[in-house]
Amino acid sequence: MAKTKKAQRLDELAALIRRCTLCPLWESRTRAVPGDGRYAAKVMIVGEAPGREEDESGKPFVGATGRFLDHVLEGTGLDRADFFITNTVKCRPPKNRTPRKPEVDTCTSNYLFEQMELVNPRLVMLLGAVAAKKILGVKSINEARGRVIERDGRKFLVGYHPAVRFYREDLGEKVREDFALLKREIRKLKK
Ligand code: SF4
Repeated sequence: MAKTKKAQRLDELAALIRRCTLCPLWESRTRAVPGDGRYAAKVMIVGEAPGREEDESGKPFVGATGRFLDHVLEGTGLDRADFFITNTVKCRPPKNRTPRKPEVDTCTSNYLFEQMELVNPRLVMLLGAVAAKKILGVKSINEARGRVIERDGRKFLVGYHPAVRFYREDLGEKVREDFALLKREIRKLKK
């Protein structure tokens, strides 16, 4: 089947991202990670930035974080191939530091916002403070997590990134709560 114009543009964006040098993060990457998944997904997941395994593979949410996502999705009738999964910035920052505001602004204005328009998801899960601050303008994760925020005709959820469990055990329960809400909202989409 021929690809739609939107799917073709998503592929073009991915190609641009892979050779992008618009912000300093290109210097620290092995591979840029444009994002992956269904072109017209109902659900989009946006993390912060690629980690080590993503940087090496060029794919989002691989390794332990990917296994966690697969586990969370059990019983929903969806798997990760039904989502579009990406990050706020597409290149791994040195030593996994938090991306800086100019990097976030450059990457989102050139790539993420257009990806979101093209995929046109009904539900977007923002993982981590960087994504939540940039896309919803909230000051912290806690200001937004645990509820559904309607904006521009879409539902947004905010949660902790699953990777946080590896260095903050105390946040493990909150991660489980965030993904339980995601699961409930996914079930509503299917009705
Ligand atoms: S982080 Fe984004 S803007 Fe910066 S080099 Fe990578 S793709 Fe380009």
